[in-house]
Amino acid sequence: MPAWKHAIALGTLLSACGSPATPQRPDFVVHDTLVYVHSDATFARRADLPARVESTIEAALTYWGGSWEELAGRSVTLEGAALVACDGVPSASGCFDGDIRVSTSDLGTTFSCVEQTELVHEVGHAVIGDAAHLDPRWMDFTPVADALGGRVGYADEAEVDCPIVVGVWRHPPRH
Ligand SMILES: [Zn+2]
Repeated sequence: MPAWKHAIALGTLLSACGSPATPQRPDFVVHDTLVYVHSDATFARRADLPARVESTIEAALTYWGGSWEELAGRSVTLEGAALVACDGVPSASGCFDGDIRVSTSDLGTTFSCVEQTELVHEVGHAVIGDAAHLDPRWMDFTPVADALGGRVGYADEAEVDCPIVVGVWRHPPRH
């Protein structure tokens, strides 16, 4: 094959596989779920992040009646931006479109721990779907909030509280 044909083939391959939103290597993997960290939030830089992501997802899976198999091969991305890209939703702070993206801030305030993000909510979509939020569990997160309550958070390298505000996990009223 002439050299120029190789060049065209390579270009086609790159355009088909390139995804600007997702880097090739995850920051870490929990079970078979890839985790990408695109945030400068203090908690996102701490050594305990993988364990905290794992236990938060575990609590969410218990709440929603799911298993790690439903997240296998999917990715979770922590985004420093207040809004994450989500197909059809212009102002989302969390998104599930096969993969999960959650903001590490809310209303301009950076979260102190991963438990505060919408991860619990988005795991719900991964497990039960329900894009219309018809299931009553979208509005009552008390059991999972109890399971994740009382943990330490981080801000500017100092340890702070990690209060769970279940309103963050509820579906936005506009939906
Ligand atoms: Zn939702």
